[in-house]
Amino acid sequence: MTSTDTSTSSSSSPARRLLIVGPPGAGKGTQAVRIAEELAIPAISTGDIFRANVSGQTELGVLAKSYMDKGEYVPDSVTNDMVRSRLAEDDAQEGFLLDGYPRTLEQVEALDGMLAELGTDLDMVLLLVVETEAVIGRLVARGAEQGRSDDTEETIRHRLDVYAEQTAPLIDVYEKRGLVRRVDGMASIDEVTAALREALADR
Ligand code: ADP
Repeated sequence: MTSTDTSTSSSSSPARRLLIVGPPGAGKGTQAVRIAEELAIPAISTGDIFRANVSGQTELGVLAKSYMDKGEYVPDSVTNDMVRSRLAEDDAQEGFLLDGYPRTLEQVEALDGMLAELGTDLDMVLLLVVETEAVIGRLVARGAEQGRSDDTEETIRHRLDVYAEQTAPLIDVYEKRGLVRRVDGMASIDEVTAALREALADR
């Protein structure tokens, strides 16, 4: 490398170690799949992994279901171990987009530890900003369409409370690290994707 070669400077490398955060119904899953595909990194959704285990009737699934159906979080120790092994897989070595994790301050610390072990760090936290009453409508509709057993109005309201209490405080932590980019999640799906793309390009 010559002294004029700046191509390896960190500001020019694309953001590839990402979180997408926002309340239930913000559209994280939909957007995560799109963005991850564009960046050629895996979208890792803890909710999807739990649901796959519920369908497969694994031990983890039976345990997770007992919490999910009530709108409660699965215990941190269980979730952290699951994410640790997922992040160790080959396809996650060049980057990942985590959806639905971390959700508690303990999970933030666990993730910090996992990334430190891997000798890496987060590049950006994408925050989808939505209005609470609007997301309740979206989730009730999703429950009717997909038959998700945690998408009933009562459970949804509880999940939103749990989010406000346990997960919203995480945003401050990442804000202090200068990682948060806010995107309006009330726009159309394509507009939200475009805004996320823009946020990713602007490091
Ligand atoms: P949503 O964000 O729309 O509620 P998810 O699919 O992300 O949906 O999560 C569904 C459920 O899975 C949560 O309510 C919770 O029970 C469980 N879950 C998902 N991610 C986590 C996590 N990081 N920690 C604990 N529980 C989780």
